[in-house]
Amino acid sequence: MSDPALRVLADVFGYGGFRGQQRSIVQQLLQGGHALVLMPTGGGKSLCYQLPALMRPGTGVVVSPLISLMQDQVSQLQQRGIRAMALHSGLSFEAQQAVYASVLAGECKLLYLAPERLLAPRMLATLVQIQLALFAIDEAHCVAQWGHDFRPEYLRLSVLCERWPTVPRVALTATADLRTRREIAARLQLQQAPWFVSSFERHNIFYQLVHKRQARRQLLQFLRDEQAGQSGIVYCLSRRRVDELTAWLQEEGVDALAYHAGLDTALRTRNQELFLEGSGQVMVATTAFGMGVDKPDVRFVAHMGLPRSIEAYYQETGRAGRDGLPATAWLVYDLQDVMLLHQLMAHPDSSDQMCQREHGRLGAMLAFCEELGCRTQALLRYFGEELNQQCGHCDLCVEPVRTWDATDCVRKALSAVYRTGQSYGVGHLVNVLCGRSTKPVKERGHDRLPIFALGRGVSADCWRSVYRQLLARGCVVVAPGGRGLRLAEQCRPLLRGELRIELRRDQYETRSRPGHREVFRHECGFPDGCQAPVREALPRRESAEWSLLPLERG
Ligand code: ADP
Ligand code: ZN
Repeated sequence: MSDPALRVLADVFGYGGFRGQQRSIVQQLLQGGHALVLMPTGGGKSLCYQLPALMRPGTGVVVSPLISLMQDQVSQLQQRGIRAMALHSGLSFEAQQAVYASVLAGECKLLYLAPERLLAPRMLATLVQIQLALFAIDEAHCVAQWGHDFRPEYLRLSVLCERWPTVPRVALTATADLRTRREIAARLQLQQAPWFVSSFERHNIFYQLVHKRQARRQLLQFLRDEQAGQSGIVYCLSRRRVDELTAWLQEEGVDALAYHAGLDTALRTRNQELFLEGSGQVMVATTAFGMGVDKPDVRFVAHMGLPRSIEAYYQETGRAGRDGLPATAWLVYDLQDVMLLHQLMAHPDSSDQMCQREHGRLGAMLAFCEELGCRTQALLRYFGEELNQQCGHCDLCVEPVRTWDATDCVRKALSAVYRTGQSYGVGHLVNVLCGRSTKPVKERGHDRLPIFALGRGVSADCWRSVYRQLLARGCVVVAPGGRGLRLAEQCRPLLRGELRIELRRDQYETRSRPGHREVFRHECGFPDGCQAPVREALPRRESAEWSLLPLERG
């Protein structure tokens, strides 16, 4: 028995079979139904609407947020002999007229449009005159205000259902937590449509997160030792950092290109083309470089700092290994990133609710970084998917985390926050704990606090590690505007010593010589014998001094 869809799949696309849920989705649309498709990047979403659009009578209309994304798809389809077109502001007036004419003549099989273009009166007036095969709404998470990539013009797409209730609508996205999915379904009137949810696990991506020591050097080592000659993307938090890092990498002999929205358009386009067509280049970019980067052989995505959310992290790392071959998602971070992002988020224009949401997202991202179990399990859990076994392709699976009993250190760390008035950053707190009489410490009289120098037996690295993990667990929070740490409600039992707490032992790697492959691992100066509960020779009186009586009573 020959399935007509399989024949088109082979004849037009040259594929021997469907992948994952593609077949069911194609069937659903061929039967005239609607669908919500959640599939990871590289899963093969485009085929889900391209194939039914070819097989159904009329024109398939694809809503896509970016011109570059449309152009890529259109040129791929044209190479396969399909009459696909895109209509966007980059076309000349004449070229736009020609597209309208083809559409009206029924000569266009797949039409790619940005939402605002689709909703323009002239386009709506054109579409009512022709037969429509389906509507595909790509990057559908853009319709969700809850999502991280909201585009207001997507909201008006509800008009599709009102005007063309019987034309199949398929919404597709590669990133969506449960709330975002529900919002997509509601806004695009797909409440009755089946959801086709693929596993979001990317088996070929290895997740590796490291703590910042000298971020640039760490990156360079990663590039030289593990990724020499490979194509990859390095994400930075700001344009300035992109420029600086690019220049530095070039000096170090890395074939690096820069991309951010502040660059001259011609240069930006040239760099993008060089990267997409070339091999072995490193693209240093802000997140402006991304959506629609359909380069199959990106071997790594590196983050020089914390992304704002797990959604963003998942989407950005998802650009690695679209060809299914092994790839690495590498991230270097420290507490400074968290403070910086909190500062950026404290934007006077953003509402409280929006702010809270953003902080919540960042918190989840940080918790992911400080995960003790398996990264993939944590990622998938965030998207509502349970993975029962360890993934085997993350740093934590390969080398399980060792923990230590940090109960006493945690009390001291929290106490330092409290005693200094809950408005200082980690650097200052660590100085107080380690008994460093820096100028700010002296000026504020913090060298006379009972907590001063009480943490001397422990390295500064270790104290930073303690604060980072406390922040990740929500025991301390960043004060509004990113100025310093505050205690959170959750820390009470820890302060009272009612709860023991295990933290991860951070490890650092150093090489015997720069550029040398031999690696030494060492941990960051934990208190001696910290595997057993930490015992420090503290007389009772002293320990009472750094406990938090006011909170204990409250
Ligand atoms: P997504 O949009 O989900 O990120 P794409 O639609 O770009 O993914 O597809 C990813 C890759 O998988 C593309 O190179 C595409 O040609 C390929 N692909 C999709 N479906 C199949 C299939 N059934 N068989 C083989 N390759 C496929
Ligand atoms: Zn794992």
